Amino acid sequence: MLDTLFDRLEKSWGEMVEIRRYLHQHPEVSFKEVKTAKYIVDYYRKLDIEVTPGVGGNGVIAKIQGGRPGKTIALRADFDALPIHDEKDVPYRSTVDGVMHACGHDGHTAALLVLAKAMNEQKAELPGTFVFIHQHAEEYAPGGAKSMVEAGCLDGVDAVFGTHLWATEPLGKIQYRTGPIMAAADRFEINIQGAGGHGAQPHKTKDSIVAASQLVGTLQQIVSRRVNPIEPAVVTVGSFTAENAFNVIADTAKLIGTVRTFSEDTRDFIISEMERIIQGTCISADCTYTFNYEKGYPAVVNHEQETEHLIKSAEGVKGVNSIEECEMQMGGEDFAYYLQKVPGTFFFTGAQPEGVDRPYPHHHPRFDFNEKAMLTAAKVMAKAAITYAE
Ligand code: MN
Repeated sequence: MLDTLFDRLEKSWGEMVEIRRYLHQHPEVSFKEVKTAKYIVDYYRKLDIEVTPGVGGNGVIAKIQGGRPGKTIALRADFDALPIHDEKDVPYRSTVDGVMHACGHDGHTAALLVLAKAMNEQKAELPGTFVFIHQHAEEYAPGGAKSMVEAGCLDGVDAVFGTHLWATEPLGKIQYRTGPIMAAADRFEINIQGAGGHGAQPHKTKDSIVAASQLVGTLQQIVSRRVNPIEPAVVTVGSFTAENAFNVIADTAKLIGTVRTFSEDTRDFIISEMERIIQGTCISADCTYTFNYEKGYPAVVNHEQETEHLIKSAEGVKGVNSIEECEMQMGGEDFAYYLQKVPGTFFFTGAQPEGVDRPYPHHHPRFDFNEKAMLTAAKVMAKAAITYAE
């Protein structure tokens, strides 16, 4: 049965490419993917596959009921693009100025659509039920996953699988990891209020720049001196503004940055440490402050059994030539929310473009991926889902 399905997928690779290139030419940014969502809905309607639009926003879910009993498995693909101007010189270049599929979500969507079509053609033989989650807004917090889960996209689902095409890894490579694979990605903003004044009369002022500078240094001690060294964490101040004339003491200073962690305990610990350090630094400098901490996506934490299942599923699939454990990635992904609700795993599918030694990274204006990888992704997802449902 899997052989027939793989055969169908091989033969449908051209269609995957066609869909991917259409989406690539017509990208839409997060939360504005109305036409893309409609494209997906229309695709399923034409095939007479049960489809629900407007799930938690622009999200779409489709469902295929197999002819034999079995578990319910969800497969997820995201479909939003980025506010980046496409600088590639290819016939399928983005037709929308300043918007581009620079992360490969067009490929995720094409692979999942064609996989659903192929599975539908032999649904009588399939065990269980398959839910195809087409998720909007992965790139921009609060993301689409959370609202889709709240809208019930995982109701009755026993396990979920998802993949990301990865252009900086060779074609044919599958990367997995049990436990945390991608970080929680948060944003903070600190405003320090001093009392500005003449640069020659510091004693009549409260210097916000001196306080903020001290703070930047002390914040670095959270990771180096407070967090357990075997626990990965990042505290980065990415922006420091206190604009003024050369002979003026700044009234206010602003710090913006990001925190990356893998465990919820470490995340909460860092937030409370930050608060304490900001408070202490400002007391000693006689300044006041506001501290805004926005939690982004939680860490993506893969489940052990489902990851083992994924590894076994990838083995022997034509087009897969290496299966290896990857390092934890400090980037974020809202696939995290599905894994908080049901067991599953998120993996990477190598998609390095042919004849390129140093591929452009994801989110680069010249980003592209090897379209053959869509086939690899579809096959591995299919095998993982079908054998799990069995
Ligand atoms: Mn992405």
